[in-house]
Amino acid sequence: MKKLTNFWALFLIMTGTLISQNDINEMCGTTRVLNKLYEQHPERQEIAQQLESFTQEFIANYRAGRIADTTYIIPVVVHIIHQYNKDGGDEDLTYDEISDGILRINNDFNAENEDLADVVEEFTDIIGDTGMEFRLATKDPDGNCSYGINRYASPLSTQVSTNGDNVSAIMELASWDPKKYLNIWVVDEFVQLGGGGGQTLAFAYPPGSHPIMDGIFCRHDYFGTLNGQSEGLHTLGHEMGHIFNLIHTWGPGEIGGDEGCLAGDAVDDTPPTKGQMSFCPLTLDDFAPNAACNDTVLENVQNIMNYSSCKHMFTQGQSERMIAAANSLTGNRWYLWQPDNLIATGTDDETFNNDPYAECVPIPDFQANKDLACIGESVDFTNYTYNNYLNDNTTYVWSFVGGSPTTSSSFNPPSVTFDEPGSYDVSLTACNGDLCRTLTYNNYITVLSERALSSEELFAQDFESLTFSENDEEVWWSGDNYDEQHWDVFDHDSGNSMVRIKSQDYQTVKNAHSFATPMLTETNILTTSDSLCFDLAYALRLPYTEVFDQNEDGIVDEDTYSIHHDDLFIDVKGCDDTSWQVLRPVFTTRPGFKNKFGPDEHIANTNAQQSLITVLDSQGNPKPYFNDFYPEPSEWKRVCVSTQTLTSASFNDGVVIRFNFQQGPDELDDIYFVETGQGNQGIEASTVGGNWLYIDNITIGPEERSIDASMMNINIFPNPTQLGQGSVSFELFNDEELTISVTNLLGTELDAVKLSLLAGNHTLEISDIFNITRNGSYIVSILGQNTRAAEMIIIK
Ligand SMILES: [Zn+2]
Repeated sequence: MKKLTNFWALFLIMTGTLISQNDINEMCGTTRVLNKLYEQHPERQEIAQQLESFTQEFIANYRAGRIADTTYIIPVVVHIIHQYNKDGGDEDLTYDEISDGILRINNDFNAENEDLADVVEEFTDIIGDTGMEFRLATKDPDGNCSYGINRYASPLSTQVSTNGDNVSAIMELASWDPKKYLNIWVVDEFVQLGGGGGQTLAFAYPPGSHPIMDGIFCRHDYFGTLNGQSEGLHTLGHEMGHIFNLIHTWGPGEIGGDEGCLAGDAVDDTPPTKGQMSFCPLTLDDFAPNAACNDTVLENVQNIMNYSSCKHMFTQGQSERMIAAANSLTGNRWYLWQPDNLIATGTDDETFNNDPYAECVPIPDFQANKDLACIGESVDFTNYTYNNYLNDNTTYVWSFVGGSPTTSSSFNPPSVTFDEPGSYDVSLTACNGDLCRTLTYNNYITVLSERALSSEELFAQDFESLTFSENDEEVWWSGDNYDEQHWDVFDHDSGNSMVRIKSQDYQTVKNAHSFATPMLTETNILTTSDSLCFDLAYALRLPYTEVFDQNEDGIVDEDTYSIHHDDLFIDVKGCDDTSWQVLRPVFTTRPGFKNKFGPDEHIANTNAQQSLITVLDSQGNPKPYFNDFYPEPSEWKRVCVSTQTLTSASFNDGVVIRFNFQQGPDELDDIYFVETGQGNQGIEASTVGGNWLYIDNITIGPEERSIDASMMNINIFPNPTQLGQGSVSFELFNDEELTISVTNLLGTELDAVKLSLLAGNHTLEISDIFNITRNGSYIVSILGQNTRAAEMIIIK
């Protein structure tokens, strides 16, 4: 259907309304992505209009025979953004799966798809055949032999959203010149925004819609037909239709709307339609009442640019539009099929049909099943070498300096063990005859030293050694080094070092926020009454007012706190364990951590939560710092936990203790709002800086019990409270005689009480133990033979 006169005008009107719709029915995210682009850059619609004028003129000349038929060869590169098939996934597509996807595009564009035979007779005469052929490039941008397939391991594989978030991050990671290659990115899945109506399988950037972003993003399981999804048969063909300037058969709006009957798709042999979602009415009688635009005209339900369950064909009118787009400079489409570009990309007939892969150098890649191991513990490596799919004679040389074996020529090497503590490089060389390439990961595997704990000697780490995390006697694990964010020794002034890490959005970095002790052996510290203690300093990040959605009662819930919640977990594992046990404690920035948010599903024991924030203002509220926080002596807090509380399991062969700093759960969404005085402004959480978390003076042993290891989870609630209200609760591990006192902020004791309490949980009403007569801020202190703890209470 052709309705050119009001096509763009209607588009402009609809652009505003589409964005706000929460319940978009979509299989293809192109409309959504395009609307967002046009909302941000309305001027780009000018380019679309110019392309439309060109298209109409081109088609007129084409029909008049003034433009000869030609074959359009389009060089393609496929970038697989994967995570090594983590957790049993299959997003790292095989060569066969990728080839099948390209085959399906070619079938659709050349009227060679098998299900074309199912096209009903009303439309067999207008089946379109573009004469376009898509070929995986056989030369990369540097002219090197390539299969046209790129692979990148990145968490971005699950972080592209259906309105285009993180697209530019992926393009930064993996993109070939769009004037030379048509880029297709494959991701594990999309972050589905906007709620309920169906899953986004793919989306594309139509020609000229963005100066840089160009190409197709596709979910791995809809790339071709070998991935278990029947929709994969035409998903890439549909997106390639968008790449060559087709829109959906119902027009630029949302599927199912009445406006589809008026707007049209600027193609004159596709009847008006509202579009069909996952069903297939092939006769006029099959349409539900009011579902058809016209009672007497059968709609082209089987069109590939529809969402129906029977997509089989492009029309001739669509083919003409696509050929016009291929002849336009808009979005560089014309450059792609020029003869010199085909030679440059190795997609010309002579190169492509004559063993183009003979000189391909394999690209080695591998992954270990662990990067932290104990002495003698088996480490397994998996080979992910690529760019050698059709070469059965690839040879491999693995190198494990310090390991046993030290080399291997197997595809996957046997398990490797290391007899000495230290950090070890691993390299893999892959060869096609004499054509070799080597990948080395430096310090890839850390083998922890062993440290026998005795009941007499305190295990201590003050981070003063310049060679931390590794010296002659002791090897700690300092996290992997592939990203800039990891725990670093910070030498503030000579003789006073500590470790620190900066809080940030950890979603897009690897496991770079942990460090771990050596293997602690001999005595099973987890069943003794020892304590793990350390100095902690952390200030709240710049607070923002997060505006919650209305809850069920219509009340808008607001609160002010750090944008992400940060959590510090202390967890343990034995040698050969694949996973860490996370029981307690968890230090968190969540406000009212015990009462407001618990129970929280990601924390096994909600009672084990403590505040991560050690820096308070004179009112007892978290005092925020932005970026460069360095703690004053008074801003440190010594925290201790009984080692018995770290896990319920026993580790007879010893145990590793890990400090794992991570971003806690967001409360709602990626978008938060900050009050600016001119209303709320949305900000992206990932753009917000953080400050530093510091840890120093870690000790394990009996001595520290005198600090506060006999008490956990002291909590005053509610806080702030009112005169005569509020309670203090805590858990005692032993029977004890306690002195509980209240002082003002100047340190003057106002009241005190002595109590003999049994081991267990206690809750005391403030008004039962103290006589506080004035509003203000006070310190409640608990002192026993083995116990010392203090919390601030604010009485308003
Ligand atoms: Zn689409």
